[in-house]
Amino acid sequence: MDSRIKNISEEAQKLGCTVELNAVLKNYTTFRIGGECPLLVKLNGEDSFLRLIPLAERLNVPYYIFGKGSNLIVDSEGISGVVFVVGKDFSEIARSGNVLTCQAGATLSKICLYALENSLAGLEFAYGIPGTLGGAVFMNAGAYGGEMKDVIVSVKAMDRSGNVKTYSPQELGFSYRHSRFTHSGEIIISAEIRLENGDKTEIKAKMDKLTEQRRSKQPLEFPSAGSTFKRPEGSYASLLIEQCGLKGVHVGDAEVSTKHSGFIINKGNADFSQLMELIELVRNTVKEKTGYVLECEPLIISDNRERNGRK
Ligand SMILES: Cc1cc2nc3c(=O)[nH]c(=O)nc-3n(C[C@H](O)[C@H](O)[C@H](O)COP(=O)(O)OP(=O)(O)OC[C@H]3O[C@@H](n4cnc5c(N)ncnc54)[C@H](O)[C@@H]3O)c2cc1C
Repeated sequence: MDSRIKNISEEAQKLGCTVELNAVLKNYTTFRIGGECPLLVKLNGEDSFLRLIPLAERLNVPYYIFGKGSNLIVDSEGISGVVFVVGKDFSEIARSGNVLTCQAGATLSKICLYALENSLAGLEFAYGIPGTLGGAVFMNAGAYGGEMKDVIVSVKAMDRSGNVKTYSPQELGFSYRHSRFTHSGEIIISAEIRLENGDKTEIKAKMDKLTEQRRSKQPLEFPSAGSTFKRPEGSYASLLIEQCGLKGVHVGDAEVSTKHSGFIINKGNADFSQLMELIELVRNTVKEKTGYVLECEPLIISDNRERNGRK
């Protein structure tokens, strides 16, 4: 093992973090696609962020931050960097009045259920987005007319040297599927969410209704990363894909869902190359036939930049 990776692994263990050598990343993505990485560390406290990320920087080891892996496409050939998971081991939620302070690894579902339990309304839109708070803030996740930017009042984040700063909403640069973190390289530690007093029965009814809408419209029975393409200005990716006759088109086990053409799904053993080939096929066809340029929504993680197809 590379001595630098060994160093990070030993430090992580000293901090009580769970570590996994040669971790299989398809187990950490909702697409169920992804090869091995030499080391995966589950961050378990602010100290682990502050110690391990600057260490990886100093050692010049490439690394990636994963939440739930629900917006990621990872190379089946594996990646050479370390994966730091901000998940269950860093997912506490605390309440002060109408404000919830949540660690970045808390899932949106867990926060929504906590809000429900406390009769707090305003986060129902996020129930069913299968990511962590960190991942949701990173890309300003949204659904059914709501976005993270509507409820976030502050975000505590760390730059890659370990400097911690708390940002106000004005500093967060939220826009459609975008925040300052999309480009800054900072790591989200926690965030405050402001909600309104509400009626428990009404909050639950709204969450149930949205869950049912997802179930009926989205191919949740197959692995995916949700919508494969961002909404282009003036249209909808799913509409354009359907108009181009691409529903059901597949490369190996990667398929444009017949239930919702905005989703590419993994019907079994799809790999990274098949998925990327299908994404390119869809983009090229839509561009040729409609003039719209579709942009991939999930982040593509691959050592080989040539293959990663990010536009
Ligand atoms: C079935 C399905 C339905 C979906 N529906 C929706 C939807 O309705 N609306 C929507 O917006 N999205 C949707 N998504 C996409 C996805 O769930 C969201 O983008 C979610 O916010 C990603 O969170 P994550 O924890 O999985 O992040 P990951 O996929 O693990 O990571 C995504 C990006 O966030 C970064 N990141 C994660 N945590 C941190 C952190 N703590 N600090 C800094 N960067 C971090 C990662 O480095 C990566 O660049 C859906 C996905 C699926 C599979």
